[in-house]
Order: sequence, then C-alpha cells, then structure tokens
Amino acid sequence: MGTQTDLIHRGERTSSGGSTALTTPIYETATFVFDSARDVERYQEGSLSAYLYSRYENPTVVAVEQKLAAIDGAETSLVFSSGMAATSTAMFSLLKAGDEVVCASAIYGGTFHLIEHLLTAFGVTRRFVSLQELAAPAGVIGPKTRLVWFESPINPTLRCVDIRAVAQACRAAGVLSGIDNTFASPINQQPLAMGIDLSMQSATKYLNGHSDVTGGVLSGSQTLLAPIAKNRRLLGGVLDPQPAYALNRGLKTLPLRVARHNDNAIAVARFLEGHDKVERVYYPGLASHPDHAIAARQMSGFGGMVCVDVKGGQAAAYRAFDRLSVIKRAASLGGVESLCSLPILTSQYGLTDEELQRAGVTRGMMRLSIGLEDPEDLIADLRQALATS
Ligand code: PLP
Repeated sequence: MGTQTDLIHRGERTSSGGSTALTTPIYETATFVFDSARDVERYQEGSLSAYLYSRYENPTVVAVEQKLAAIDGAETSLVFSSGMAATSTAMFSLLKAGDEVVCASAIYGGTFHLIEHLLTAFGVTRRFVSLQELAAPAGVIGPKTRLVWFESPINPTLRCVDIRAVAQACRAAGVLSGIDNTFASPINQQPLAMGIDLSMQSATKYLNGHSDVTGGVLSGSQTLLAPIAKNRRLLGGVLDPQPAYALNRGLKTLPLRVARHNDNAIAVARFLEGHDKVERVYYPGLASHPDHAIAARQMSGFGGMVCVDVKGGQAAAYRAFDRLSVIKRAASLGGVESLCSLPILTSQYGLTDEELQRAGVTRGMMRLSIGLEDPEDLIADLRQALATS
C-alpha cells in the first residue's frame, strides 16, 4: 500500500452496529467497563483482548500508533505526552546504573540536560562526542557503552551524521543505536531501514504539523519496545486521547505537507544564499552545506528547516527578527505557519561563547521553520526584514 493511502486508512476501523466510523473517535475515557471478574482476569492473563485503563492503552491512541508504525517502517510504535517523555522513557528503560550512553554533543538541549543532569544521578555515565568523532563511530563505543544517541539533521546547524555508519558500528559492537528523527520526519528519512534500532520524534513538530499538540513517538522492534511500553505505564507519560486524535488527523496529510515544506525551504534557502546581508546559509539541500553529500545519500528530501548567519552579528539578527511579519517570532518548528527563532535566546540560551562555538551556533543566527505559505510571501518577508539589518 502507498504511504499516503496507508496514513489515511491504517488504524481507522471502529465498528458500531451495522456500520463503521470513517475516522477513529476520541475515546475520551480514563477507564473501561467489564462484564465480569472472569473477563478482568482473562484480560490480565492476556487471553481477552480489551482495554482496562487509558494510562495503559486507549483505542484512539492505539489507532495513531498503528499509523506511526506504518510510516516509520516499524514493527511497533508508542506515543508519549511529549518528545521528551519519549526520550526519557526510552533512556530510563534501556539504561541502568553502570551503563554508558554515548551522545553527540550537538543535540537538542532537553536531551542534553536529561542525560547530563538526570541520568547521571541514577548512575548512568555519559560521553558527549563531537561530529568528527561520530564520523568514525566504532571509535566512540567503549566496553560499558549500551546506547549511542544522535540527531540528523542537527538543530540548528543542520549538520548531518552518516546514519548507516553509526547503525553498522553499533550492530557490530552489540550496542543499541537511537536517533532523534524530528527534523527530517519519516517522509524525508527512514532511519530504521538504515539499521538504526530506535527512532524517536517529537510529534509536536512535523508529525502533527499544526503547532497545536505536544507529543512524542518511539518506533522500533517489538522486542525493543516491549519493556519501554511497560515502563510507560509506570512513568505515566502516555498521550491523551484528544491529542492522539489530532495527531492521527495531522498524519493523514504528512507526505503532502512535507513535500511542500521541502519545496518552500529550498526556495527560501536559495534566495537567502544570494542575499548580500546574509553571511551564511545552513540548509542540507544546498551544495555549500558541509554535509550535503551525506544528506543526499540518506534523505529523500531536505526538510523545512533553514538557518542563516546575518551579516553584522547579533544586533543585525535582532533587527531582522523584529521586522518579520508573515514569519512569526516563536520557538518550535514543523507546523503550517513559518516560525523564526534566535538560537541564542531559545535552544542555546545561556551558553558561553565557547559552548556556542562547540555547538556551531553564532550570535547572529536566525533559525527558520519554513511553513506552508506561498514561498514568494516568505521571500518577500525576509527581503524586507533583512533590508535594514
Ligand atoms: N528533539 C528535537 C530535535 C526538538 O527540537 C525537540 C523540541 O523542540 C524535542 C526533541 C523535544 O520535543 P518536545 O518539545 O515535544 O518534548
């Protein structure tokens, strides 16, 4: 079945009487009613397929998980109340005291703090590695390493990691590999097909796509996800039925939206590359991007995120940012509306100059999440915003 057909129909089969609802309704219930003690007993033994309690399973949530498994090419997907709930539940499930997690140092700030400040308090050790080190992945795996975690493309520089190389090195060493695939979306990049064990995404971004849901997803094999599903019950970070419904609806247009994000972003990136107030454009679809060759090998589209260094540094970037009109000044990404954020005020807020340098972030950087508007309107907005910078 084609991706678009699958995303529309997968999981939608709720029968009521002689007909079937076209879409999965919102089962806005915390609990489910049984006929007898024997039925509850059979449910607990696994011989009765039923729902007990929505922190465990809920039909609206299960429907969206089936779509996500289809789009990620996974045996199983699990949804969570946020991307961070997905990442933290995975890490607390896969790691124990004495294990080491190897993580790219250029990583989403929340993931960095989770590893650096929370996992270490439970006896997990961590090693943050540079992109150069990750380019020779066998070398970053030590005797205690249990998990290698990274993003590609990376926020906000859109640097890319050779996914197949990391997957192969991890498999050879018997170590788990996990990727945060949020920036690419499964339409542009299929990490599980490249040998990665666990694919995580913030569903808040492209998957839902309308900036009105906070959610997260993990996809992988049944065996890997079974203990994570168990711990999701304990840690409690499951998605509610209402946002699960919204996510399910958003997913139906994911391929259409991502195709437009890709087209709009390359148009904006090319415009910015030729602008005399722009020092540098970061977009993996441009030949000038340092990882263009890697991106071209492993991505079928280059995504909707574009980053620029404005000539004149921080003051010039602030001026351009303040003048934006169509593009909104807001954190987050992946929605229909174009958004702009200044990494030094959001994802990299509070970092020293040296830490910024290590993350590849400059003070004159503007990060754009290119939405679904007419590209000429976005380009006109950026032209007028940069005119006085
Ligand atoms: N991963 C990346 C790359 C992100 O940009 C974000 C949020 O911005 C997250 C993970 C965390 O997702 P959430 O905000 O849904 O918890």
